[in-house]
Amino acid sequence: MDIPRRKFGATGTEVPVLGQGTWNMERDDRAGAVAALRRGLDLGMTHIDTAEMYGDGQAEQIVGEAIAGRRDEVFLVSKVLPQNASRVGTVKACEQSLRRLSTDRLDCFLLHWPGSHPLTDTIAAFEELVTAGRILSYGVSNFDVDETREVLGLAGPGRIACNQVLYHLDERAIEHEVIPTCAEHGISVVSYSPFGSGQFPGMRTNRGRVLAEIADRHGAKPRQVALAFLVREPGVFAIPKASRVEHVEENAGAMNLDLSPDDLHQLDEAFPRGRPRGLPVI
Ligand code: NAP
Repeated sequence: MDIPRRKFGATGTEVPVLGQGTWNMERDDRAGAVAALRRGLDLGMTHIDTAEMYGDGQAEQIVGEAIAGRRDEVFLVSKVLPQNASRVGTVKACEQSLRRLSTDRLDCFLLHWPGSHPLTDTIAAFEELVTAGRILSYGVSNFDVDETREVLGLAGPGRIACNQVLYHLDERAIEHEVIPTCAEHGISVVSYSPFGSGQFPGMRTNRGRVLAEIADRHGAKPRQVALAFLVREPGVFAIPKASRVEHVEENAGAMNLDLSPDDLHQLDEAFPRGRPRGLPVI
């Protein structure tokens, strides 16, 4: 089955709901990681997320290798570090990312998390990069509700494409306010660390057994249930990182799953949303 697509913020671009992350990919076997990313592209997971921070640019180089000759298939996202996000620094960081990625444009460029440079400067740099055709859209990451409202007020309607935030079964805080606020303003939410970044519940826990039980009912795998759960709402995307082809294939298969109201109820009981609280980050 193809990976379903959704409009990404106000960009008008249809982006697959499941993409591919690249944090720490430089620690894995390079040829294997490149092959995994390319397999993901074959399967329609064409949203690739990277950042200047990841491996000090090494992850971007791996992505550059993986997308060589296939650039037009990819919705390519990178991020500027907050300490670089001045008016001049943002443009410079973008140019360096483009060089490492061996491409002439990013589909979306994000501020990695809120920092000390005035947001007006970062936005002005983003707008300059849009005008120059070096980025096609921009967004933010790790922005809580107040920060999202602030950046919206500064950038104006329809300018912030997404907010990339921590979201997985054990960390559902964004469901209280972040997701509804983003939805109200046409900002896509991108779930990072959708498997808890290596903390996925195993069979020794009750939560892990619930996941396995639901998965069994569908002839699926627990991680597929987790991914299907995260992207159940319109406007939410997920970017699992996998450096192994078999993992990528399993993740792509999540989109064959149709979780029933009973499945969702069981997941709610095992992985409660909890009380509203500040934005969790990793
Ligand atoms: P994650 O996607 O939650 O988990 C990655 C781990 O899960 C890797 O060890 C991977 O193994 C394993 N895995 C993937 N698919 C699997 C499968 N089907 N079966 C078994 N294991 C599987 O962790 P993450 O890297 O923290 O988050 C995903 C992406 O979100 C990042 O790579 C990054 O692009 C983005 N992110 C953004 C921020 C931010 O501040 N904006 C923060 C964190 C992450 P293998 O690699 O060995 O296949």
